[in-house]
Amino acid sequence: MDRDSVEVFLPDPDDCYERLRRARFGATVSCVYCGESDPVIKKGTTGKGAQQYRCKECETYFNDLTNSFFEHRKFPIEEMFYMIKEMRSVPTAQIASDLQRDYEAVLNFRHDLQELCGELTELTLSDVCEADEIYVTAGEKGIEKEDEEESPRERGLKKKGRGSFESDKPPVVTLVRRSDGRVEFLVRENLQDVDEEIAEKGDETVILCTDDYTIYDDIDEYDGIDAHLAITHDDTYVIGDAHVNSCENRHSFLRQWLAKFRGVSKHHLQGYLNFLGLLLNDSADWFSKILSYESSR
Ligand SMILES: [Zn+2]
Repeated sequence: MDRDSVEVFLPDPDDCYERLRRARFGATVSCVYCGESDPVIKKGTTGKGAQQYRCKECETYFNDLTNSFFEHRKFPIEEMFYMIKEMRSVPTAQIASDLQRDYEAVLNFRHDLQELCGELTELTLSDVCEADEIYVTAGEKGIEKEDEEESPRERGLKKKGRGSFESDKPPVVTLVRRSDGRVEFLVRENLQDVDEEIAEKGDETVILCTDDYTIYDDIDEYDGIDAHLAITHDDTYVIGDAHVNSCENRHSFLRQWLAKFRGVSKHHLQGYLNFLGLLLNDSADWFSKILSYESSR
């Protein structure tokens, strides 16, 4: 689609700050350093239009952006809000061109955002969970293809053939906690030690459903995993809990998601999947999750 002539409608900066405040502080602004709200008074605005505050308790100044994801960025707040929303479905080059901004700067913003999404999607495994692998085409840089239509059979064969990070088919392990459907994607150079990594996410009550790939053999010997149900992909019927249907469902979202970007770099694949994880896990309030993020510095 030709978007060259698209006019960009940016949100009102005051509305952005109001939304950011509401997500971060609720009705009353509290000090980002001591957490108290009573001694906080308004004290002008910053050059970027953020409300500035003074805390009489700890005698510090802070503003709407302090310790948020939006602090120390060169973009104005309304462009950052616009970019984040667009980044769900629009390639970086297009966003940069729409805003007439430097591509590298927008790309760096995307990578930072996607790293943050990783923190927001870390999963603790408990009760019945699933793990399954998928191999994604992703090279050194983004490539202008990806996602040719394949039959499920072809996909299955490809999966059995397996890929590798070096051959631009990095493996991704998808974890789903079945009680609430939350997902985490792990992009790895290889899957050799991924069983230990999965087990470390377990709280010892985990019944883990996987396929019969040997990497999961004996995973229940780790403390984090209570039991392991391995199924073969030749099984026609789902037997009780023993299936990875939730993972397969997430894999179809994963394919659709990556196709929007017409290929991503394998070095940033984890980031894209972090963002997807946030969208799947918090579909109603994913944006508020980003707004209310407090950096731990
Ligand atoms: Zn304070």
